[in-house]
Amino acid sequence: MNEQKSFHDNSFGSLFLVPTPIGNLEDMTFRAVKQLQEVDLIAAEDTRNTKKLLNHFEITTQQTSFHEHNKAQKIPELIEKLKTGMDIAQVSDAGTPSISDPGKELVQAAIEENISVVALPGASASTTALIASGLEPQPFYFYGFLTRKGKQRQAELLDLTNRQETSIIYESPFRVVKTLNDLKEILDSNREVVAARELTKIHESFVRGTIEEVSDYFVEHEPKGEFVILIAGKVEAELDLSDQEIAAKVQALVNQGQKPKDAIKEVSTLINQPKNKVYDIYHEL
Ligand code: SAM
Repeated sequence: MNEQKSFHDNSFGSLFLVPTPIGNLEDMTFRAVKQLQEVDLIAAEDTRNTKKLLNHFEITTQQTSFHEHNKAQKIPELIEKLKTGMDIAQVSDAGTPSISDPGKELVQAAIEENISVVALPGASASTTALIASGLEPQPFYFYGFLTRKGKQRQAELLDLTNRQETSIIYESPFRVVKTLNDLKEILDSNREVVAARELTKIHESFVRGTIEEVSDYFVEHEPKGEFVILIAGKVEAELDLSDQEIAAKVQALVNQGQKPKDAIKEVSTLINQPKNKVYDIYHEL
């Protein structure tokens, strides 16, 4: 057990986790700029990349590189510096540190040593995509990148498609078609999926539809840029309903103001039955 008071005098420095924009420089927060200016050192995933950001905001703080391949050597060095009182900011190439990016182990090492870890809120592709997806925003399940190949990938996909939460995955443009195709094999054809592309950038777009529609779309339109794929949670099918009960469900939605077409679609998803079957039942009864 330990309690951290983030803002109090301490002979140790603090580790600040600073999100950076995911495409649009205007998403840099005032606090992020100020914090990067004020710290003694910035631990950056790619110092050349971060240099461009620092130049843009006229930040002159010194950088050191900190990434997946040098973390074992760098963590003890950074912890030593923090213990001598230096404040350090950690940044990744884009978005929120530790979210499918380096950071986690440094955070854990700092906590072990009673060094304050202070997170700044800011851009992440995951929540940016989620809130505009139109899918249920909570509960959600952030998965990040899928394993590239093999049985584990299949198992990961199966697990995601069986979840009742909205799932969020990161995907490279080179694998978007494959991933959507794999999902098409497993999901009910009317499960909703959203592909959020190039968020915050000039070519930002959202392709929303059933897994069949979205997957077919990207067979015809080559995926380009950065992608987040979101999968609607599985709705537990209400099985074994009589025709009267099905028609009553549609009618209840219509009574609440929905168009019959939308009500039929919603009930067909709910009971995992084709739309035309629900249509026939509703219109015949
Ligand atoms: N730390 C970042 C965050 O907080 O979102 C994620 C870094 S991860 C290495 C990069 C992946 O995030 C990309 O492959 C893509 O799936 C997603 N991503 C990052 N920026 C994006 C954007 N502008 N639009 C869509 N997806 C993006």
